[in-house]
Amino acid sequence: MSLEPAMTTPDVLRVEVLSEALPYIQRFRGRRVVIKYGGAAMVREDLRDAVFRDVALLASVGVEPVVVHGGGPEINQWLNRLSIEPVFQEGLRVTCPDTMDVVEMVLVGRVNKQIVNGLNRVGGRAVGLSGADGGLVQARTHGDGSLGLVGDVAQVDPSVIIPLLDQGYIPVISSVAPNHEGQPYNINADTVAGELAAAMDAEKLILLTDTPGILRDRDDPESLIDQLSLSEARELINDGVVAGGMVPKTECCIRALAQGVRAAHILDGRVPHSLLLEVFTNSGIGTMVLGSRQQG
Ligand code: ADP
Ligand code: MG
Repeated sequence: MSLEPAMTTPDVLRVEVLSEALPYIQRFRGRRVVIKYGGAAMVREDLRDAVFRDVALLASVGVEPVVVHGGGPEINQWLNRLSIEPVFQEGLRVTCPDTMDVVEMVLVGRVNKQIVNGLNRVGGRAVGLSGADGGLVQARTHGDGSLGLVGDVAQVDPSVIIPLLDQGYIPVISSVAPNHEGQPYNINADTVAGELAAAMDAEKLILLTDTPGILRDRDDPESLIDQLSLSEARELINDGVVAGGMVPKTECCIRALAQGVRAAHILDGRVPHSLLLEVFTNSGIGTMVLGSRQQG
């Protein structure tokens, strides 16, 4: 009988990887990480399951993930069924009252519960909320109102999610919120994630999307900008390097960092387990925007 331990090479690799995650687990235990979930990671089944597992894993090692989601493709499908044409301006969905009904039904009713179910299926304990619940988010009209019921975040009161996090639940938040009169507004999910991260003094804001990160040339995936400061991020918007849906993303990173969030990341949700790669390794995928606390 051999006394050799029955460990194969893959086993050894697995325990090494786990062991190397230890300092990261220790560093992020009890810290809040706000994750904007969207894009391919929401549509492709294999990626979806990987995201759910990553979020459940974060929660089970004591990190406190908060998931904020949009629902772009699903909203468009339902608008299509009702013969309503989707219209976008500067990366934001122009929202008439009929469109708002669809946005609310799809995001709060369907997409939110799909995410909650998905997380629970892999052993997470997820709770779904919209901006209305517990007065979490109050909206106000975006800009001059020409985009209709598109909202900005007027106010965030995270008191409803703190006890959930304390109890080990994973809050899943859809980006619909009422104004002071109770009228529901459609808010860009990146924006909600950024404001929530700021209001909760989060360690990290992570935006999952379908590009490698912020690109110097948006048609060249090789032109990834891996790290930039607040002022460099502002310049990229002013210069038009950042356009379309990347504008609200970059703006919300800037706002969150300016309000004390330690780091904001724009990650490629098409890379399986990009969340774990970001939180538990040094490989630095995607674009990291650093606040002034990190510099100098
Ligand atoms: P999401 O559904 O994740 O919110 P969006 O479509 O709203 O994604 O925003 C991401 C899009 O922004 C990219 O697919 C790209 O077309 C566009 N974009 C504009 N400028 C840039 C840039 N400099 N780098 C990367 N993407 C950019
Ligand atoms: Mg977007």
